[in-house]
Amino acid sequence: MKIRTKIAFQFTLIVALILVVFSLSLYYLLEGYTKDEFNNYLKDRAQTTAKLLIKEKNVDKRLLKVIDRNTLSSLYAAEVLVFNDENLVTYSNIDSVNKFPYSPEILEKIRKFKYHEADYQNKKVVGLMYTDEDLKKDYLILAQAEDTYGEQKLERIKDAMTIGLVSSIFLTIIFGFVFAGQSLKPISRINQEVSKITARDLTKKLSTGNNKDEIAQLARNFNEMLSRIEKSFELQKSFVSNASHELRTPLAAIKSEIQVALEKDRTPEEYKEILKSLNIDNQRLIQLINGLLQLAKSEKGDKSLQMVPIRIDEVLFEVQDELQHQHQNYRISIDFEEIPDDDESVTINGNKSLLRTLFNNLIDNACKYSENNMAVINIRFNKSNCIINVADTGIGISKEDQEKVFEPFFRTKNASNYKGYGIGLSICKRIVDIHGGRIILKSELGQGSNFNVILPHL
Ligand code: ADP
Repeated sequence: MKIRTKIAFQFTLIVALILVVFSLSLYYLLEGYTKDEFNNYLKDRAQTTAKLLIKEKNVDKRLLKVIDRNTLSSLYAAEVLVFNDENLVTYSNIDSVNKFPYSPEILEKIRKFKYHEADYQNKKVVGLMYTDEDLKKDYLILAQAEDTYGEQKLERIKDAMTIGLVSSIFLTIIFGFVFAGQSLKPISRINQEVSKITARDLTKKLSTGNNKDEIAQLARNFNEMLSRIEKSFELQKSFVSNASHELRTPLAAIKSEIQVALEKDRTPEEYKEILKSLNIDNQRLIQLINGLLQLAKSEKGDKSLQMVPIRIDEVLFEVQDELQHQHQNYRISIDFEEIPDDDESVTINGNKSLLRTLFNNLIDNACKYSENNMAVINIRFNKSNCIINVADTGIGISKEDQEKVFEPFFRTKNASNYKGYGIGLSICKRIVDIHGGRIILKSELGQGSNFNVILPHL
């Protein structure tokens, strides 16, 4: 079911329910009021007859009957009976008493309660007791009549209410549809606009209408999401083109080396040299592909990542060993600012292989980009974090490049003489993100760099 139909339907249902409850209560109130009014009339009627008949002893019953019929009951044909102590009819304004059926139970009830109202067939019956003070005699007066006028009135009210109810519901359906359509108009507009946005053209944006209501907020949020998607598409595109470019360079070198080698017959020594050079290029390719694989692996949300408590100083010492084994010229010093009292201040919940990659990249860069090939590592901690500072006194990074070095394939101009692909720091950033930490770079061109890694400890 369309939202518009649903809203209109629910709206109609609610309004119809309210109208029905309102009409029914009004009708029952009116019905009660009409009934009370008529019973009061009958009571009056009975009392008047009693007063005339019993109080005015000399009144002529025949005359009273005539007056009674012609005047008092002109509006309603009220029938009045007066009974004595023995339940014998002493007065009746109708000719035949049998026409006015009454039961001994009703008479009993009237004598018991002094006043009684009842419905009999289509008529209303009211009975009351009247005492003749002079003769000390009790009389029972019964009055009955059909409330034709009241019933007609109620019938008309009922008809008017039914017509009103049906037409109101009908109008509610129409207005419900119109209002629902009106309120959903901005959503239909957004729907149409969204259908025009394709993956190829994310530059299109939704119009934010009056800029005030919830729909405008939705459009704004949607536009922001589009911008983020667009940015990530751009990044993806530049990543793919950079990666292909980086992969093509060593492959092109390998191809031309092979072509040159095949141009003529060579001595075994020459072949050996060529193979050595090919091996170096091949090594570069492997390194690059490994870097790309690491980058893919360090994607956030990889559920297969095993996170366990790891002492950060242990990881650093392992990386130090490994790097110094690979590069005899590297000098790496690791120091605690303050010796921890407990293991927890330097233990973090992390993935060992990723943490090794992180510090390997940072320490390798520090040594690689400084003339003295020296990296100074300092470990500190506070209440919640363990902070690892990797410092060097190398070529440094200019202020404007400090943000960019964490983007894949970005390399600073002053680093062009050093081997590298510009992937390491983007991997570091992702690894720190995965561990819920931060990486802060402080650097001065020509003075050196400081990478602060802040990781939450146990
Ligand atoms: P790579 O070192 O392989 O080029 P990285 O992603 O590790 O890739 O570094 C990106 C760039 O950041 C480097 O090319 C270099 O320009 C700069 N950089 C990284 N670390 C340092 C450092 N310690 N000193 C100076 N520049 C650095």
